[in-house]
Amino acid sequence: MAKYTPMMEQYLGIKEQYKDCILLYRLGDFYEMFFEDALIASRVLEIALTGRDCGQEERAPMCGVPHHAVNNYIPKLIENGYKVAICEQVEDPATAKGIVKRDVVRVVTPGTVIEQSMLDEKTNNYLCCIYIAEGFGISYVDVSTGDLYVTENISLSDYAVNSNKRYELLNGEINKVNPSEIISNKLTGDEIIDSRISITDILKFTEYKNIILNHFNVVSLDSFGISDNINAIISLGMLIDYLNQTQKTSLEHINKLHFYNTGEYLHLDSSTRKNLELIETIRGKKGQGTLYHVLDNTMTAMGGRKLKKWIEEPLKNITNINNRLDSVEELFNNVMASNNIKEYLKNVYDIERLISRIVYGNCNGRDLVALKQSVSNLPDLKTEISELKSKMFSNICDNFDTLRDIYDIIDKSIVDEPPISIKEGGIIKRNYNVELDEIIEISINGKNWISQLQNEEREKTGIKNLKIGYTKVFGYYLEVTKSYLKSVPDNYIRKQTLANCERYVTPELKEMEAKILNADEQVMKLEYDLFLEVRQYIKSQVTKIQETAHNIAIIDVLNSLAIAAVKNDYTRPVMNNNGYMNIVDGRHPVIERIIKNELFVPNDTYIDNKEHRMSIITGPNMAGKSTYMRQVALIALLAHIGSFVPAKSAEICILDKIFTRVGASDDLSQGQSTFMVEMSEVSNILNNATENSLLILDEIGRGTSTYDGLSIAWSVVEYITKKIKAKTLFATHYHELSELESKLKSVKNYRILIKETDDKIIFLRKITEGSVDRSYGIQVANLAGLPEEVVFRAKEILKQLGESDITKPFAKNKKERVSDKFQVSMFAENPIVSNNEEYKDFAEIIKNIDVNNLTPIKALTLLNDIIEKAKHI
Ligand code: ADP
Ligand code: MG
Repeated sequence: MAKYTPMMEQYLGIKEQYKDCILLYRLGDFYEMFFEDALIASRVLEIALTGRDCGQEERAPMCGVPHHAVNNYIPKLIENGYKVAICEQVEDPATAKGIVKRDVVRVVTPGTVIEQSMLDEKTNNYLCCIYIAEGFGISYVDVSTGDLYVTENISLSDYAVNSNKRYELLNGEINKVNPSEIISNKLTGDEIIDSRISITDILKFTEYKNIILNHFNVVSLDSFGISDNINAIISLGMLIDYLNQTQKTSLEHINKLHFYNTGEYLHLDSSTRKNLELIETIRGKKGQGTLYHVLDNTMTAMGGRKLKKWIEEPLKNITNINNRLDSVEELFNNVMASNNIKEYLKNVYDIERLISRIVYGNCNGRDLVALKQSVSNLPDLKTEISELKSKMFSNICDNFDTLRDIYDIIDKSIVDEPPISIKEGGIIKRNYNVELDEIIEISINGKNWISQLQNEEREKTGIKNLKIGYTKVFGYYLEVTKSYLKSVPDNYIRKQTLANCERYVTPELKEMEAKILNADEQVMKLEYDLFLEVRQYIKSQVTKIQETAHNIAIIDVLNSLAIAAVKNDYTRPVMNNNGYMNIVDGRHPVIERIIKNELFVPNDTYIDNKEHRMSIITGPNMAGKSTYMRQVALIALLAHIGSFVPAKSAEICILDKIFTRVGASDDLSQGQSTFMVEMSEVSNILNNATENSLLILDEIGRGTSTYDGLSIAWSVVEYITKKIKAKTLFATHYHELSELESKLKSVKNYRILIKETDDKIIFLRKITEGSVDRSYGIQVANLAGLPEEVVFRAKEILKQLGESDITKPFAKNKKERVSDKFQVSMFAENPIVSNNEEYKDFAEIIKNIDVNNLTPIKALTLLNDIIEKAKHI
């Protein structure tokens, strides 16, 4: 077999180490891709596929992109799920002997991008490592901001009993973090199936420990509080190891570790997050229709990301919640301060991501000017904050570094409008560096000398239109048009002939040119060095700058919550630890903003841990049951975030978990039927809820036949009230369930009012005590515009059904309501529901017993008959 060319040998050697990446191989001004990579890239990037001689019989498929435009192409590859290894020339081609040395300088992956163009401003971009053993450890980092979080779960006894519970927690956490890339040691059966996951081999525990110690440059993990947390340490080690392998650069901005316990936060499982439409709508859309959209009045990207984090991690600690509320209230009452803060924050750029790019060495003069501009607002901001009294603001103020040194160094050194490039000069201010000023002086003098020369030569030679020009290739020249050629003096040396002119040089001109070019080159080099010095200084202050960025984010979020509260007429919730909620005139924060033609009708809610634990809410379709229940969940959630809430007044107790099972959403992607999804969600809720949880159960049992569904709903209600004792709102179109109020002490019935007029109904949207006794399905169908004929016929059928045989065994008389039919089949405490014919017969026998006319003997015989019959069912 023929040998590959030396260059191709080098290429293949490097590619061997980066098999899972598209390798961008630097060749002059291009990044080239070869073989399989070229085939993929030409398709994904829509660029021409060519070929290159590689020493073999067949040319190697090749395609390439210009190096200066590479940032337009990498995102496309990343979006399509590829990792990209960037291979540079690592020695100067001019002085290199043989093939220029090349090496991969960075691997870009979905979870490690730092380029602005590939990131959403107000969204963190997380890389997540999951270590799964008996328990699990999760670490995640946003490389573009330096945020690093670690958590773990080790309580083995939990898992032994219920492995479901573990994955519930794991999935909940992953869903919250929503990483762009996941690395894990194993795929765990069906539990986590995710296209973002790649599987990695695991090193030894001590190796991971060393990787971590090296990264943070410490001798022990004690200071991080994770020295005993094996799962956490391994997941963190995996993460840093991966970063080291892919980023190959200093990661000094990732210098802090947030080790948290999932129990610190109000638990929301993945379907609850989805159902409540916190950050995205159920359909996966961002923006309108989400809670975040209503609350977001942040002025900075940092604030936007922090607000999302707060929404995703509501607090459980009443003191911390009240601290947030105190600060929001202070700004709520001080519109002037709120406005000022908004103004100061308006011109603050994304300092977190700026500093990360600075650490990466991936920034230019414009980034530094942006940093300076941002920092210039900080003294005013600090003064404004110092006037505020609440605890969070005074804490922030005590530790708020306005980064004066950063402002000063950039202000002194970098021009106000620097060029994009950092290697071509024009970036450093005069009077910053004496040496630079001197060289610039030489260059300027030289250029003046040349422009004077033009006048002198014109006078000397009498050539009126003699011109001095410059091109990169020929340097400076004297240009004379053809008509004056006779006047050209002898000392001119002809250099170039053009259509209607000749170009000349003189020895003096060449001498001056050398001086100028030499000076210009020196200027560029010196300016670059000075720029690096400034950058280096800023980099050395990274921790301090991040601290300030963090404070800015918190100020921004608190102010955003205050603005949202003013704008939308919210009120401060009063938090309690006594297990009750009392909401007066509560509203749905998102729906009230979306409905246009109607006013949103506010509603009250009272829930406690005694008589009012469970509310059963009946009402026809479209009455507003689902909206009402979500509204309660969202108000409770908002309170735990530290936000004001849409209500006239609200007392909210600290909850540990919120669960929602809302609507009948198909989850086709998982290949499960609606009903199966519904039931597994319900079982998850029943397995995990406690008496401090809030459960929102909407139309449980809808996905199956009426009696099945009703029975499941009934027994779920019983189980929750008797065993779990959770605070529950239970909406149902099974009006039969309202019978439970009389059977269970903690159940209360509610209905949503409607007005009936000649077969039509009007929705009043008002909730009140009591229950409805029928479904109004036909009326709603009528409202929805079903043809009149269909509606009429439906009414007929309904009437016939009411009289039909199947209802006979249950009915006291022919006009019996459906709810009564159901009632009869309830055997006291333990309802068993069935539409089985034998059961009905059985019930019929019992129902027909005339107790008043039974002799003891007859009673015993009858009882024996019943027992015999029961054995056969
Ligand atoms: P249900 O669950 O009872 O079928 P929904 O909660 O889905 O009803 O409400 C149906 C529609 O009624 C909602 O889309 C909303 O536009 C409107 N709606 C619900 N509650 C209210 C309210 N309190 N005020 C005004 N409109 C409401
Ligand atoms: Mg509904």
